[in-house]
Amino acid sequence: MTSTVETPEQAALRAAVAALGKRYGRAYFTRIAAAGEQPAELWAEAGKLGYLGVNLPEEYGGGGAGITELSIVLEELGAAGCPLLLMVVSPAICGTVIARFGAEEQKRRWLPGLADGSLRMAFGITEPDAGSNSHRITTTARRDGADWVLSGRKVFISGVDVSDAVLVVGRTADARTGKLKPCLFIVERETPGFAYHHIPMEVQAPEKQFELVLDEVRLPAESLVGEEDAGLLQLFAGLNPERIMTAAFAIGMGRYALGQAVEYARTRQVWKEPIGAHQAVAHPLAQSHIELELARLMMRKAAYLYDAGDDMGAGEAANMAKYAAGEAVVKAVDQAVHTLGGNGLTTEFGLASLITGARVARIAPVSREMVLNFVSHQTLGLPKSY
Ligand SMILES: Cc1cc2nc3c(=O)[nH]c(=O)nc-3n(C[C@H](O)[C@H](O)[C@H](O)COP(=O)(O)OP(=O)(O)OC[C@H]3O[C@@H](n4cnc5c(N)ncnc54)[C@H](O)[C@@H]3O)c2cc1C
Repeated sequence: MTSTVETPEQAALRAAVAALGKRYGRAYFTRIAAAGEQPAELWAEAGKLGYLGVNLPEEYGGGGAGITELSIVLEELGAAGCPLLLMVVSPAICGTVIARFGAEEQKRRWLPGLADGSLRMAFGITEPDAGSNSHRITTTARRDGADWVLSGRKVFISGVDVSDAVLVVGRTADARTGKLKPCLFIVERETPGFAYHHIPMEVQAPEKQFELVLDEVRLPAESLVGEEDAGLLQLFAGLNPERIMTAAFAIGMGRYALGQAVEYARTRQVWKEPIGAHQAVAHPLAQSHIELELARLMMRKAAYLYDAGDDMGAGEAANMAKYAAGEAVVKAVDQAVHTLGGNGLTTEFGLASLITGARVARIAPVSREMVLNFVSHQTLGLPKSY
């Protein structure tokens, strides 16, 4: 499935990452997830080979390429059964925001480590009382002398236990106009007042989710990323890569599930022909293939626009790609499980556990309905009900 138009360098990257993913494989990922461990070897090797930081600037240890290339890395690892969810966060959101808006000191402190995988950064925007409506976030930063003091709560934040810091989205204390005026802070994990609690989830993945409690967390002035007043622009600079990478996560997982189902349908024989000869089995798999390819094409468009510097154009395409990929993976996994009959639910074949994993792409980082709202209002110009 490498039929999208790619440069020879991108195709070579895809092939090299696919080979790396294959060496680890699904069995590795399932084993470590079940043991509550981390894919540390894969993460370290991908970092060493330059894959994790392929989008980050060369002068800070990155590959100097774009989100297009980073999405190729995540998609191929996912297609091999090893989706590294933290790639959506650490190099894609945090790395991008720091590379584009960070101070020189922040870039030197964080980017080389994010690029080679030796440092990780989680991203916290979701709040219990705001949910999809990020305009309602109440994590508040107030100035105290040269410092910032940050208080609030976040939920579902991925990978905090293995991250060195969290890029926290707050708002400035005087932004009481109701207009979102976000600002971004790098909060190192061991900072006094910062606590995190594991939220047990039904998703079988090595990456865990956490509640964050920020209780008067005192931060030095240089923890603020970029301008206090340019928050929205900075935030979207990170959220577009997040949506594109979630699409890559979904498409990789969908390809993995579909590959398993196709292999099974080709070989499983209970009547005269293998079950894949029955159109009732074959057509839904063909449909899933088409839907994944279409989602991938939109993901490529979004990544292309983003890498070309068109943040606005990329925003619409990234939302659509995330939507399409989320729907395609949910359907592909469902159909894959069904194609295997009883084996679709066995631990040996390991497909049923992807059912919840696939749903993540429909819910996060922005739900299916919120993308439909975005397209209704922004693209089609329809009125808003909320
Ligand atoms: C595995 C996982 C990992 C995550 N990792 C992170 C992370 O690292 N960092 C982070 O900040 N967040 C993370 N999240 C949070 C995720 O982004 C949110 O769950 C998501 O944005 C939805 O918010 P919510 O759960 O509060 O749902 P709610 O906002 O409560 O929505 C519930 C339902 O109502 C629907 N709904 C809400 N408003 C409307 C409306 N106006 N119109 C129509 N339908 C509507 C939604 O579509 C949804 O189906 C993660 C979530 C999961 C599941």
